[in-house]
Amino acid sequence: MAHDGSSSGEGWTPLLPSGRAPEPPEPPVLILNGSEDAEYQESVSARGVALRWTAEDWEFLGEDVVPKDGTIRRSHYYPATCRELPYEFARVAHGDDAELRAFVNRRGRLGYKEMCEAWDYENLRDTESASWIRAHARNVDLVMRLAEASGNLPKAFLILRERFRESVEREKDEPDSTWITFRYARGPISESIGIASWEEAPAQIGDSVIAVILDENLARVRRRHALELSQYRSRSGSEARTLSVFTISSLLECIYWLLADQINGAHLRKCEACQRVFFAGHASRRFCPPVGQPIDNGTRSPCEVKEKRRRYAKKRRGKTLEK
Ligand SMILES: [Zn+2]
Repeated sequence: MAHDGSSSGEGWTPLLPSGRAPEPPEPPVLILNGSEDAEYQESVSARGVALRWTAEDWEFLGEDVVPKDGTIRRSHYYPATCRELPYEFARVAHGDDAELRAFVNRRGRLGYKEMCEAWDYENLRDTESASWIRAHARNVDLVMRLAEASGNLPKAFLILRERFRESVEREKDEPDSTWITFRYARGPISESIGIASWEEAPAQIGDSVIAVILDENLARVRRRHALELSQYRSRSGSEARTLSVFTISSLLECIYWLLADQINGAHLRKCEACQRVFFAGHASRRFCPPVGQPIDNGTRSPCEVKEKRRRYAKKRRGKTLEK
């Protein structure tokens, strides 16, 4: 991030004509704006991610996500503090247009423009498309399902077969082929080709697919030293401190970051009602969390409420029959 332009950009001479030693050149660091806000502190200090994102109202113009006319609702948040994001985004993969629209309006656009910049991608366009967003949601959904199935070979094989049906069918025609190709979204690109080997066990193929999707989509994250300027910090005597942060450019990159953080955690679950895979905030959660809520607040999900009602109705039917 550039400075305010006060430095002249000219070469650094050893001594100024007045005899004073010149100021050393500014180090090329990110400048963060410190805040006492708890979300900011958690994001920067605890998670090492300085990304602040904007949620506002969007609409779809054909395939493109564009700002809604006369937008007034606009709020900022720190996505790195929202561990529920990968689960919420994975729902978009199989949901309808309304689910996609709800996600974008709740969390903001995914950050196509920022991804293009981070990837030095030529084909820069101002808007992002629904099909690009969906392609990434399918990535996240696949990674979560494969990770949940990890260690269960038949389950992993079914997930892979469903995903690579085309490749599998082609495989029948070419029984000698040892390579399978799979399509996945990679940064600003909706469809890229990955390669895995059929000679590996399904669980290993699953791990290769997870590794390709996560590694490729996190390839542009870097660790940087950031100077944090804060009006609040001046109370303790210093106006700036240096922090080590990860430069995450977009909401999408942050979703992959959170996914990679949680993928090997103990609490990857499958909802007993809807079969969606989710990250459980605590060990006893059996049903997927409600959308748009923090991961470990105790709110019941529609699935849990539905299941309770179903059990209650069954019990009552049983009692009526006994009479
Ligand atoms: Zn559910």
